[in-house]
Amino acid sequence: MGKKTTHKFKAEVSQLLDILVHSLYTNKEIFLRELISNASDALEKVRFMTTAEGGQDDTVLEIRIEADKDAKTITITDTGVGMTRDELMKNIGTIAHSGTAELTRMAQEGKDSLDSLIGRFGVGFYSVYMVADEVEVTTRSMEPDASPVVWSSDGRNDYKLQELDGDDSMARGTRIVVRLKDDLAGQFTNVAHLKSIINKHSNFINFPIHVGGERVNTVTALWREPKFQITSEQYGEFYKFLTYDSEDPLDTLHISVDAPVQFNALMFTPRTGGDPFGMNRENRGLDLYVRRVLIEKQNKNLLPEYLGFIKGVVDTEDLPLNISRETLQDNILIRKISSTLVKQVLDHLEKMAKDDADRYAEFWRAHGILFKAGYMDFLNKDKFARLVRFNSSTSDDAKGLASFADYLSRAREGQKEIYYAYGPSREALGLSPHLEVFRKKGLEVLYLFEPIDEFVMDALRDFDGHPLVAAEHADMATLDTFETLEQDEKAAPLSDGQKTTLDGLLARIKDVLGEAVTEVKVSRRLSGSPVCLANPDGNVTSSMDKIMRVISKDTSIPRKVLEVNPDHALVRNMLTIFEKDANDPFIEQAANQLFESALLLEGYLTDPHALVGRVQDLLTKSSGWYVDSKK
Ligand code: ADP
Ligand code: MG
Repeated sequence: MGKKTTHKFKAEVSQLLDILVHSLYTNKEIFLRELISNASDALEKVRFMTTAEGGQDDTVLEIRIEADKDAKTITITDTGVGMTRDELMKNIGTIAHSGTAELTRMAQEGKDSLDSLIGRFGVGFYSVYMVADEVEVTTRSMEPDASPVVWSSDGRNDYKLQELDGDDSMARGTRIVVRLKDDLAGQFTNVAHLKSIINKHSNFINFPIHVGGERVNTVTALWREPKFQITSEQYGEFYKFLTYDSEDPLDTLHISVDAPVQFNALMFTPRTGGDPFGMNRENRGLDLYVRRVLIEKQNKNLLPEYLGFIKGVVDTEDLPLNISRETLQDNILIRKISSTLVKQVLDHLEKMAKDDADRYAEFWRAHGILFKAGYMDFLNKDKFARLVRFNSSTSDDAKGLASFADYLSRAREGQKEIYYAYGPSREALGLSPHLEVFRKKGLEVLYLFEPIDEFVMDALRDFDGHPLVAAEHADMATLDTFETLEQDEKAAPLSDGQKTTLDGLLARIKDVLGEAVTEVKVSRRLSGSPVCLANPDGNVTSSMDKIMRVISKDTSIPRKVLEVNPDHALVRNMLTIFEKDANDPFIEQAANQLFESALLLEGYLTDPHALVGRVQDLLTKSSGWYVDSKK
């Protein structure tokens, strides 16, 4: 017998334990799911190691559960890998699993209720302290010559360890004795109740589970069963087992492939997406089995990141069982499985979009933002392009988002280009001077609200031979070929004399603005607005330019072309004033005001003081004139 030693829990474990011990969570039964899942992981490791090494294992791989009403205990025993003393200290005493750390953090921030957090995360071993006063873990590692070790704790501050040297009575594996809290003992020592909990949460565990000597679960690898024999309830149950999700999946795809590689895959699309770029980023991937032996959970090579919303399993006959996890990454068979999977998933989504638009819209709302990262998948560019959806000047979430094909079906006769514009919101784009000409001509514009949309457009470049064109770069001559649908009141045409004065006025404005603009010129795209800013080079859209500036931390204001609308009433007034006196200070004031307002609309104005001062000055003057005119 080794000496009994006492150890403090690491701080993060204490925090989590504190939350769990005092939890009023009503669904405490999930502690059993967690302990069984750990037992199953330990058994999977034995199976993996013995098959990989071609070794023999005569111990039955199983989980046994016993309840003792009088002692108020449940005992869970597995014949898995067990733990050495060091492993015990490392695995139960600190937090290894990022999900658990995240749960603690979120629980402390109090953003979500504990109920929903615990339901959503695998909370792991420590969840046992929702129901236990005291837990004793006796474990013996499968390593040769390992002695059994006993770990025990009431889940408050510390745990005790004791090595049982030379004790051979215990076989390989782990036995966990849970001493239940008094008020929960009746419920959790009831064998019928335990069985129903296991059926609910642990039915798909890959090893036999016995309760009181009786086999509870039916061990079936659902993904290997013929499709027609599986009910949607079974799929739903398996999905919940796999993901801890509480609702059914949005969609299920079950396939069996023979060439170029043999494999079965069962894949689910959850109804909600979570935050794909945040902490959840690592929580993706399909579980990889070889001939029913679990090789790796959440393998990251089977599906690309943009399909990371898909949960499920892949099982192949064609990989050797002794494959090491390290070599999976550049394994040619895995690559072949992956490219087949991606094609099948994309085809399936396309079929969904065609046959069940509502479901596809739901998919897009939940996962579209992640899916859009698929613009990098050049091999599947065409499929991808058929699957992306956008807001537009004529479509929104309520009416249904637009595909490129939808857009083209509504395009004006003779229209080749697909136009798009980036903006912070529908309202902002509705006011954008750049889009005035499109509104007048009845040309639909795709609205991009996310920076990634712009990368999508850049990568795709065209759809079915139709170029994707940023509205601000649209060719005016092309736009002119479309008849104007919405004629505003036409200003009287400029006389030859006025045209010359206009040239002078534009030169004067350029003088006032100096190096702040590259050029001041007459605009052909404006109708309601007096001016707008355009890019001097047609390569980069202003929004892409903004993204680049953020990346390179460039805070300077870009130099652009100031386009002036000669038909706007304000510009006409400036023309009259300028004609009388080319040096009238109003021209300078108006030029600066128009320029800064344009900067403001484009999101570049960093210091509004001058602009506000000028507006107040102008209002003071004009209100004075207004008062005079009323006299
Ligand atoms: P997770 O299962 O997500 O890793 P847990 O808190 O459930 O987190 O378990 C922590 C670790 O303790 C496991 O990763 C495993 O190494 C070890 N462990 C727990 N239960 C057992 C068991 N029955 N047999 C062997 N190791 C176990
Ligand atoms: Mg676990």
